[in-house]
Amino acid sequence: MQTPLEENPMSSSDPSELDDEIDYRRVHRSQHPQGSVVRFGSTPFGDGGFTVIAGPCAVESADQIDETARIVADHGGRVLRGGAFKPRTSPYSFQGLGLEGVQMMRRAADNHGLPLVTEVMAPTAVEEMADLVDAFQIGARNMQNFDLLKAIGASGVPAMLKRGFGTTLREWLLAAEYILAEGNDQVILCERGIRTFDEATRFTLDLAGALWAQRETHLPVIIDPSHATGKPGLIPSLVQAAVAAGLDGAMVEVHPEPESARSDGDQALDPEQFAELMQRLERVAGAVGRPLV
Ligand code: PEP
Ligand code: MN
Repeated sequence: MQTPLEENPMSSSDPSELDDEIDYRRVHRSQHPQGSVVRFGSTPFGDGGFTVIAGPCAVESADQIDETARIVADHGGRVLRGGAFKPRTSPYSFQGLGLEGVQMMRRAADNHGLPLVTEVMAPTAVEEMADLVDAFQIGARNMQNFDLLKAIGASGVPAMLKRGFGTTLREWLLAAEYILAEGNDQVILCERGIRTFDEATRFTLDLAGALWAQRETHLPVIIDPSHATGKPGLIPSLVQAAVAAGLDGAMVEVHPEPESARSDGDQALDPEQFAELMQRLERVAGAVGRPLV
């Protein structure tokens, strides 16, 4: 079998020079100069519109996820997010409801006519979750879990690949390349902030990097200002910046009662804040001639 580098028509034939060449050839913009449209269920990304994904950090109960799905759908969100397998920094923090949480989320999404995206952490869980989800989230901490990338590639289920907070743009694109190399081209990229010397915001949103990735690849690119900033007050403006800049969408955390959330409550928008964000977004999207999906 040829390695991707050997197949790469853009590579030099001198192996000593290969590292500097474009070795993410399947995701490279030259493959689809007009850009790819990726669908989570029937919701498109990359068709020129701006797509909003919203939901709680974690699925906490059937009522909580159903209520959030209602809020998301009512205000124009087009995909429900929520974690059931949570990658927590501390082993003593809430780890998520597991498969039962995914099932609750499936029911909530169906009740409100939304597709869902949820994180999968273990390659072995891909198969059991495949029929329950519309898309897999690959979290920042798993961006270079290559067995996971291969399993999701082989599953054919659409994927949202978050950028690792300590990874380069090239490493991010190569992680996406792993999924496409298995025959799955339904991939969107999500910039969620990288770690820098600054601590005023939770991470540093690399908006320029997101724009670079959108130009360099044919994949839709969205931002996650919730994890990038950790600050609800900054989230609406960054979503507005994303639509004005031509990015393909945004993912934000929304919780019916942020004060009682079991994870990331400090950064969650409450229902009123989410409604206001969507109104502000609509105004800017209209001003720059871009429809909301
Ligand atoms: C999340 O989206 O809930 C999450 C854990 O994000 P990240 O992997 O970007 O930290
Ligand atoms: Mn979160």
